[in-house]
Amino acid sequence: MTPTSKTALDRAAELRHLLNKAAHAYYVLDKPQIEDAVYDRLYRELLELEAADSSLITIDSPTQRIGGAPSKGFASVQHRIPLLSLDNAFNLDELTSWYTRLLKLISNETKLGSAQTDLPMVGELKIDGNALALSYEDGLLMRAATRGDGSDGEEITANVRTISSIPLRLQLNNPPAWLEVRGEAFIPNSTFKAINIDREINGEMNFANPRNACAGTLRQLNPQVVASRGLDFFAYTLHLPGDWQAETNDPPRPIDHWQTLQWLESIGFKVNPNAALLADLPAVKSFFELWDEGRRQLPYATDGVVVKLNDLQLQEAAGFTQKAPRWAIALKYAAEEAPSKLLRLTCQVGRTGAITPVAEFEAISLAGTSVSRATVHNADRVAELDLHSGDTIVVRKAGEIIPEVVRVLRELRPAATQKLELPNTCPECSSELVREEGEAVTRCVNNSCPAILRGTLRHWVSKGALDIDGLGSKLIEQLVDRGLLKSVADLYGLEANLLASMDRMGKKSAENLVTALSESKSKPWHKQLYGLGIHHVGEVSAKALAKAFPSAATLAQIACESPAQITTVFGIGDEIAQSLQQWFSTQANQQLLAQLKQLGISLSASENELINASSEDEKTNRLKGQTFVLTGALPTLSRSEAQALIEAAGGRVSSSVSKKTTYVVAGAEAGSKLNKAENLGVKVLNEEELRGLFAN
Ligand code: NAD
Repeated sequence: MTPTSKTALDRAAELRHLLNKAAHAYYVLDKPQIEDAVYDRLYRELLELEAADSSLITIDSPTQRIGGAPSKGFASVQHRIPLLSLDNAFNLDELTSWYTRLLKLISNETKLGSAQTDLPMVGELKIDGNALALSYEDGLLMRAATRGDGSDGEEITANVRTISSIPLRLQLNNPPAWLEVRGEAFIPNSTFKAINIDREINGEMNFANPRNACAGTLRQLNPQVVASRGLDFFAYTLHLPGDWQAETNDPPRPIDHWQTLQWLESIGFKVNPNAALLADLPAVKSFFELWDEGRRQLPYATDGVVVKLNDLQLQEAAGFTQKAPRWAIALKYAAEEAPSKLLRLTCQVGRTGAITPVAEFEAISLAGTSVSRATVHNADRVAELDLHSGDTIVVRKAGEIIPEVVRVLRELRPAATQKLELPNTCPECSSELVREEGEAVTRCVNNSCPAILRGTLRHWVSKGALDIDGLGSKLIEQLVDRGLLKSVADLYGLEANLLASMDRMGKKSAENLVTALSESKSKPWHKQLYGLGIHHVGEVSAKALAKAFPSAATLAQIACESPAQITTVFGIGDEIAQSLQQWFSTQANQQLLAQLKQLGISLSASENELINASSEDEKTNRLKGQTFVLTGALPTLSRSEAQALIEAAGGRVSSSVSKKTTYVVAGAEAGSKLNKAENLGVKVLNEEELRGLFAN
């Protein structure tokens, strides 16, 4: 055996400390300090360390116990049958491994050999509430308890009696001497919101989530307060005396889990209506995928699905571990927050010179995708987070939002560490960075910074601007690195022979590129204006400006001499006017315009464009009455640009897909909205198809 390494030993101790502290805050104080998903990942890390080296397991490890100890305010009661937790799977691969293991175990235990290939399962929603054990004697509710540590819970009968969906008397003519029902107490979303509003009014701390609010409510010492909180309950487990059989007029004893759910319903319990009998593993996977989207429409919180073996005899054969049944698993939905180890803090230099600090960390799976970089926004945020080398950070990626660092788990900070700050100089050109007073953004103001130049060139050739095919980021990078491009104007001096000598370029593609460059000279004036990359001038404002001022010369003159006149154009405000004034009065920009003009780029509207401009007005209403939903990253348009384009044509952009949605516009890593569109039969467009709606 290899001796336990110091780092594993230290890490396990750190994790134990953090998780025990978090569990106390969660179970005892009902005030979680960290997100559930973060807790789950760190717990999993500790489990893996302990599995690799059992000498790391200590008796105070959170992996060795279920839930939290019963609190002192209530009498402690021993459960007739232990109330265990569930093992977790965090993705479909883990589900498959669990299923395969279970199949093997059952084949061994029941001597079914390889004949058994499918195990019928019941899929249920994992309600985000608190487990309750309800004890009935001769059909009457005698005792209700929380899960506690799995063997002893808190006796909260008086509180549970106030939950109207829990029957005080069972609908059985001949009930057994004893019967135990387990299920989930929960607070519906709307009630949860109302409780938090009330708490805010009374100056109390908000509950972090409905589960936490439910736990806090169940532990109220005054049952009247519990009654006012609108708790609800879904039953899902039944324990009956082994020899009990129903008598006439009562529903017969259930023989599998599916029947159990129906039986519970028939004797007066509320059972979640979304459970399903699933014939095999593919059916389980479909059930999971179906509810990933569907659960958002439910009036209560869920954080996964629970999959349970249907056959009760096989359940018995599979048995239990110390903490959970082997025949059931909680399959959790992709987390939107997770911890990771910070590797370094780097900076990205944007087209406008804006510096964005970027945290690079060990890859993690978030909201279904692998993520290893996240934005830290700006220097103030870096300082606020107090980032140190080797820190464990919490990263969030919700929906289509760019991943961001939300906080640092200071308890896990290594001993030898260094505070991380933004550099004083540009990582690309080493010139001093500038942060104007009152501005959040730090900038590189060196006009010849290669990062700014690359960004400017990428923008000039982009779809919304001159739309030049065959000039990707890699080629631009090579050309800038070799000193062949110093401005946008240099693009028009590139020769096919030289282009053909670049990496991954052939003769044909080089010739095509030269043709595309030459053709781009006659692109419409508004595209040229947008392509200049003037701060705040997006596609829509470029169109409005180009229509009002038919050439760069007129626009430059008005911008410099009477900028207020610019703001008379619909949709153009002071910010754009000032930016135009600054841009056109800069000498380097004036030189660029002169060069471009000399190269044959019109920088003005053609006769056709002028004629079309008048018919253009009609087009501003072409998407009237149509609703669009945007999802994923489009290849060239940002979210706000796409929205502005749609709105300028009279369309509306909404954030959720419904039957009334006209189109869903989907880009890379499109989220659940895409699935929903497909389910509802809403037409899906890519960026090109969206652009097609504005063509002509
Ligand atoms: P769990 O929530 O992962 O799963 C087990 C529980 O699911 C059951 O006990 C039951 O209450 C519930 N459940 C809901 N629907 C069910 C259904 N249809 N069938 C069966 N059970 C169903 O495990 P847990 O032991 O209750 O709690 C551990 C979880 O608590 C962790 O995964 C973590 O997310 C959270 N936690 C968070 C913190 C924190 O600091 N944020 C601390 C401790 C624990």
